[in-house]
Amino acid sequence: MKAIEIINQLQNTENMPEGVCQQLDELKYQFEKMEQEGKESGMRKIKYLVIHCTGTTQSATVKGILNYWKKPVEQGGKGWKNPGYHFLIKANGVVVQLHPISKPSNGVGGYNSNSIHVSYIGGEDHQDTRTDEQKVSLAAIIKGLSAMYPEAEILGHRDFPKVTKSCPCFDVGAEFNQLIK
Ligand SMILES: [Zn+2]
Repeated sequence: MKAIEIINQLQNTENMPEGVCQQLDELKYQFEKMEQEGKESGMRKIKYLVIHCTGTTQSATVKGILNYWKKPVEQGGKGWKNPGYHFLIKANGVVVQLHPISKPSNGVGGYNSNSIHVSYIGGEDHQDTRTDEQKVSLAAIIKGLSAMYPEAEILGHRDFPKVTKSCPCFDVGAEFNQLIK
């Protein structure tokens, strides 16, 4: 099933908050753009759809997170040229695309060339702090990406070998394996 159809279906789900429905419209637009992008620039092979948290408070801003990645290491930042994730999900469920999916971002060292990274804002103190809106948007974008890349495995950051972080602070396998198949 195509990503757009899956999102249409999601929008018709009972009890879907109105704000999230609007977000899903935006997502559909993003997917159309991504599909075009994939075709036009010879999309890289996607093996992993990776879920993260920012490890910050819910109120951390997209701008602040982007600045932290960009800032040189000696100034307390990461000194990265590319963002850490392709998508960030705000506490209100708004999905912000930070980087084209045709290009790698910096989510998991050693696995970025084949990964698309999605993160919710939150996860402070290793807790799953997702709002209901974030859960809905996260499920929608992962379902959509999974429809685009059915071969890709859905993993949490902490599910990769040698990762000692708790990111994304919940069991991705338990939540998403059922959701997708
Ligand atoms: Zn992570």
